[in-house]
Parts: sequence; structure tokens; C-alpha cells
Amino acid sequence: MLDWIIYSWYCPNCKEEVAGLKDKKNQIKVKCSRCGAEMIRTIVGRRHDVIDIYAPAGEKHHDAEVQLS
Ligand SMILES: [Zn+2]
Repeated sequence: MLDWIIYSWYCPNCKEEVAGLKDKKNQIKVKCSRCGAEMIRTIVGRRHDVIDIYAPAGEKHHDAEVQLS
């Protein structure tokens, strides 16, 4: 059963707001209009969401790389 709650959050890549509707599998699939990152948010439970982020082709995520010697 579908509900029509619009889920919105901020793109972790560029902080643009994204929004989408949940599908039958409890997933919300959106594409950021600013940076092009694709995200799939899965509602696991009332207090547990998982957001998978797929960066645009050719772009790596922006986290600092740490090297331990
Ligand atoms: Zn973005």
C-alpha cells in the first residue's frame, strides 16, 4: 500500500534539498537537481533510515582521505 507522504532531506553532497515519494518497497529514489547525485532512501523502521548515495559519474565523494603511515 502506498502512502503519499513526501519525504525530503538535504543532499549530503551539495546540501540541495531533494524530495520524493515512497514506493511499494519503502524506498524513495531521487536525483539531486544540483549535483546529479542519485540517492535511494530506504525506510527500515520508524527510527531507522538508510540512504544510499551514488555520485555522478567521474566524481568521487567529498570526504577527506586520511592516510595512516
Ligand atoms: Zn546534490
